[in-house]
Amino acid sequence: MNQEKKFPNLSTMRDKITECVKCAFCKADCVIAKEILWESASPRGKMLVLRGLLEGFGTLTEKTIKSLYQCTFCGECEKDCLAGISLGEIFLASRKDLFNIKRENIPFESGTLQTVDVLCQRIQENYNPLGNLPEERTIWEIGQDIELPKTAAIVYFVGCMPAYYRKNARATAQILKAINANFTTLGSDERCCGSLSFFLGDEETTKELAQYNVTKIQETGAKKVVTSCPGCFSMLKGEYPRLLGKELDFEVLHITELLTEFLDNDKLHFQSEMQLSIMYHDPCELIHFAIYDQPRRILKAIPGINLVENPENAITQCCGGGGGLMSIDAKLSTRIAKHRLETALDLGAEALVTCCPACFATFSSSAKEYNLPIKIIDLMDLVLQSL
Ligand code: SF4
Ligand code: SF4
Repeated sequence: MNQEKKFPNLSTMRDKITECVKCAFCKADCVIAKEILWESASPRGKMLVLRGLLEGFGTLTEKTIKSLYQCTFCGECEKDCLAGISLGEIFLASRKDLFNIKRENIPFESGTLQTVDVLCQRIQENYNPLGNLPEERTIWEIGQDIELPKTAAIVYFVGCMPAYYRKNARATAQILKAINANFTTLGSDERCCGSLSFFLGDEETTKELAQYNVTKIQETGAKKVVTSCPGCFSMLKGEYPRLLGKELDFEVLHITELLTEFLDNDKLHFQSEMQLSIMYHDPCELIHFAIYDQPRRILKAIPGINLVENPENAITQCCGGGGGLMSIDAKLSTRIAKHRLETALDLGAEALVTCCPACFATFSSSAKEYNLPIKIIDLMDLVLQSL
């Protein structure tokens, strides 16, 4: 099979891949390259591997495949690349091709591709990557005393992790209720936003999910969609219009943007004092949309919160869980997260606060694994407690 046929998506990136001058600037801030010293794991190494595959002198081995999935899509390499190469787009193209190369076409058993298959099958069959039942998606609503009308001004798109782990969804819905937002959810009609299938290379499933969720949102008549998961936010705001080839007829906001609007309009007030030193962690998928100030403004408005930050590294370093890495290589994710937790401890923080359910899960696993004396707190929980 010629290389164009084997790697159709990667082949469209050929010009971009050959523009790489192998300078290695992209390695400087890569969380993977800091953790795994093999060149093949670094962004420059990945570029060399992909060029080799395209030219036909590289071979697919389990090690190659695994290293191509060892990336969190944090985007730091792109920021550092002086040649302006869109590495994320290239890495995504390689994953689409790997996803489409069925396992029988690879003359060995690839543990990585098996995991990818299992995760994508769960999304296709249960509409969530956790393998939970679709009808249990609304279990978080039990006992919440919240009226969810069929039509509303705002749809709260809950997302898989908030819905099935419940706490974040419950806190977000209670906050929306407390600020008298006119909102509803898609209830059991909601399906995974497609973030994981997108990063694992299953474009067809992701497109189907995008089309389905957009139709369901439109049926509510809402002109605003709010998410408490940055992954859902990034998909709905950034990827859905690209995947569906059209602008959406509703605005997409992360909950921190909506709450900042309410703060500005003097409609959000905090009562309880928290007395807590915290470091805030920026989720990559909010950084990509320049949402840095909103969560910090909310935190600074909570009485008693002492926000400790080192201005030089306040907004750097991914938690380690993005791009599907937590599902593909949980050990590597928790190793990466450990560094961020150590930074928080060095700054004297009692807690690390984030507003991303995936970062929350990665940091919680890491703190447990390495027995680190730090609390991990979801911003929505903190807001709810201090209302
Ligand atoms: S910084 Fe850009 S040009 Fe340099 S090695 Fe990395 S991808 Fe290639
Ligand atoms: S996106 Fe992030 S993790 Fe992936 S190669 Fe680039 S810097 Fe490394």
